[in-house]
Amino acid sequence: MSLAEQWRVARPPAAGVHVDSAACSRQSFATIEASAAHARHEAEVGGYIAAQAAAPALDAGRAAVRALTGMPDAGVSFTTGSNHALDILLDDWTGERTVACLPGEFGPNLAIMARHGFDIRMLPVDEYGRLDVNALGAALAHDPPALVHFTVLGSHSGVVQPVHDMATACHGHGIPLIVDAAQGFAHVDVSGIGADAIYSSSRKWTAGPRGVGVLATRPGFLSDSMRERIGHAEANVGAHVGFSVAIGEHIAAGPAAVQARLRDVGATTRSTLSGVAGWRVLEHVDEPSAITTLQPPDGVDAQEVRARLIAEHAIVTTYLGMERAPRAMAHPALRISPHVDVTEDDLAAIAQALTAVSR
Ligand SMILES: *Cc1c(COP(=O)(O)O)cnc(C)c1O
Repeated sequence: MSLAEQWRVARPPAAGVHVDSAACSRQSFATIEASAAHARHEAEVGGYIAAQAAAPALDAGRAAVRALTGMPDAGVSFTTGSNHALDILLDDWTGERTVACLPGEFGPNLAIMARHGFDIRMLPVDEYGRLDVNALGAALAHDPPALVHFTVLGSHSGVVQPVHDMATACHGHGIPLIVDAAQGFAHVDVSGIGADAIYSSSRKWTAGPRGVGVLATRPGFLSDSMRERIGHAEANVGAHVGFSVAIGEHIAAGPAAVQARLRDVGATTRSTLSGVAGWRVLEHVDEPSAITTLQPPDGVDAQEVRARLIAEHAIVTTYLGMERAPRAMAHPALRISPHVDVTEDDLAAIAQALTAVSR
């Protein structure tokens, strides 16, 4: 069975065409059932006893995160999502409050940095918003930030950022590196970066439950008091179990195979949709991700198109308002983010529907 077929038969059939994995993927039967079974066990033996019984499954989830990030000795904590992880990291930071990030930084991340009193500087980029590696050394040497926050794959664009070059530069300048892998984890290779911290969300490319995320930190990066605080916080243990199962399924499918298939999905999506009804694909056709960003033709409202695609064609996409990446986006856009199971028929249906709703 192909990876696409394995993925498809492992979960409930989609009601229409779901190309919204960058927002929230579809969970597998095994993931849904693991969360539900834990809730049932809580009702039978009590929530705190059930949590003890679930410890090995959660340990396996944490071990899988260490393997996928190539951080064998990392402390791994479940969070309520990526924003929660960033909030924890910046709350715990005792150094100077200066941070450098890409101009395409996720809007809510910029808000969290500002709320924690950080002075935010921009890293140099090319016309696609990709880190300009040649200009990086000078930028860091000129006015070194205390911290680099690097989003390996953004919410508003399928451009995969050169995170290994960023890590090399950070190591060279002795600057700690935090990596936002909300879109990168279980999608592109985020192993062996050498980051001080890396975090992600469950519901996106890993296809775990909503309201869950994970934070991996190098030993010593988080204070003991913060680690204790996270460890004692109230949590949806069943959702952590479900997330652990979803990560396990990703590892069983083969991370390299999933990444390769998602690269193909991105290229096929872009070549099918490029120029359809005047919509413009903003990435290179072979950008190695499964995120495609479409800029509407003049006079077409992407938000209305997203709503009509759902209501009239049962096609789920994402509307990207400028608040996603307020320092980089010039126009609102539509995001198409299929998972490994998308078919050519699905993409043809999207092209046809896009033509129908763009008139
Ligand atoms: C979705 C997303 C986040 C926020 O993730 P939550 O789990 O919703 O907190 C952060 N960064 C990027 C790049 C994202 O796409």
